[in-house]
Amino acid sequence: MTKEVDYIIVGQGIAGTVLAFTLMKAGRQVLLIDDPGLSSASKVAAGLYNPVVFKRLTKSWMADELIPFLDTFYTELEKTLNCKFHFKKRIVKLFAEEQEREFWMKKTAAEVGRYLDKTIDDHFLPGLVNSPLGAAEVHHSGNIDTRVLLKAAADHFRSSGCLLEEKFETGQLVISEDHVSYKDCRAKKIIFCEGFRAAENPYFGWLPFRLTKGEILTIQLQDDQEIPFEKVINKGVFILPLGNNSYRVGATHTWDKLNDDATAEGRSELTEKLEKVIRVPFVITEHLAGVRPAVNDRRPMLGLHPEHPALGVFNGMGTKGIMLAPYFADHFVGFLEGRNALDKEVDIRRFV
Ligand SMILES: Cc1cc2nc3c(=O)[nH]c(=O)nc-3n(C[C@H](O)[C@H](O)[C@H](O)COP(=O)(O)OP(=O)(O)OC[C@H]3O[C@@H](n4cnc5c(N)ncnc54)[C@H](O)[C@@H]3O)c2cc1C
Repeated sequence: MTKEVDYIIVGQGIAGTVLAFTLMKAGRQVLLIDDPGLSSASKVAAGLYNPVVFKRLTKSWMADELIPFLDTFYTELEKTLNCKFHFKKRIVKLFAEEQEREFWMKKTAAEVGRYLDKTIDDHFLPGLVNSPLGAAEVHHSGNIDTRVLLKAAADHFRSSGCLLEEKFETGQLVISEDHVSYKDCRAKKIIFCEGFRAAENPYFGWLPFRLTKGEILTIQLQDDQEIPFEKVINKGVFILPLGNNSYRVGATHTWDKLNDDATAEGRSELTEKLEKVIRVPFVITEHLAGVRPAVNDRRPMLGLHPEHPALGVFNGMGTKGIMLAPYFADHFVGFLEGRNALDKEVDIRRFV
């Protein structure tokens, strides 16, 4: 017997998960297809969101809209899934040069200033970290524990009978003008949220991905003192407290050997940077890698296939899936349901 749904979503990373919940909230029936044996950027991500671009001390693209949106979205999702994965945490920037400190103070008066604390701390955890030039904090930042979210979401989808845990085979897809069929399921549309694997998708492989590999460590500090749980440290690397003196440290950015192999080079790069920040011994307890679905113009990619309107894509989250996914899932669902047009800056038609 044929199962009928409104949308099939391929991929249950952060993009597919957030899109599925947004569609369900709009009253649509969804079938998710995800192969849990495949690697996923979302499962290794630190899950940080930061309204500030540290390199130039500017506001991150659309931060004023994205941050309040994600706050409401993830808070509601925590209630739906009955678990905690959203943590508001200030990011503490340790200054590496005197000019950086002066630049920060100057920028507190600029547009980005609403996210920058005006107080400089000259004694930030002196026994634990190296911060001879002081430190200052970013407001409205935080992190999502993606592993907790994705697992709780998978359990929820499974128990609702809307998760198919297997590899999606493009050869089994039958496309019509106003619907698709996949095995025994028929849907109005299929939306691909395959992360970096979209680059191999026969219908969307033409999109200009600029995939970036990232490596990340989990460490345990060998010291009684802890970095406060509600702060993330940044100086060349980020150090995200997980509790019980365990921390996630990342991340590298490389553009070749795009796979999920954790490498000796990645480990040394992160260890060397970390040793410049942390004054106490640590042990590495985990080392992971993933591939970010980044795009040439650093904007998400959403929309429908130019020749097959029953096929859609929600991808290109790059380094900022946590911030981008909730707002743009809502925007995309508005478009799919005929409520709004797609913003040209994120519409895949910008590449046609
Ligand atoms: C080391 C590292 C650190 C990061 N840190 C952060 C951070 O702090 N903050 C932040 O916002 N972002 C961070 N990112 C980026 C973030 O991970 C991505 O923006 C986001 O995860 C992309 O999500 P996605 O759902 O598009 O792709 P993915 O997470 O890769 O999910 C794709 C899903 O599709 C499934 N899939 C693909 N093809 C098929 C198929 N044929 N059949 C079935 N299933 C399929 C896969 O199994 C997977 O579950 C980091 C990335 C890395 C690598």
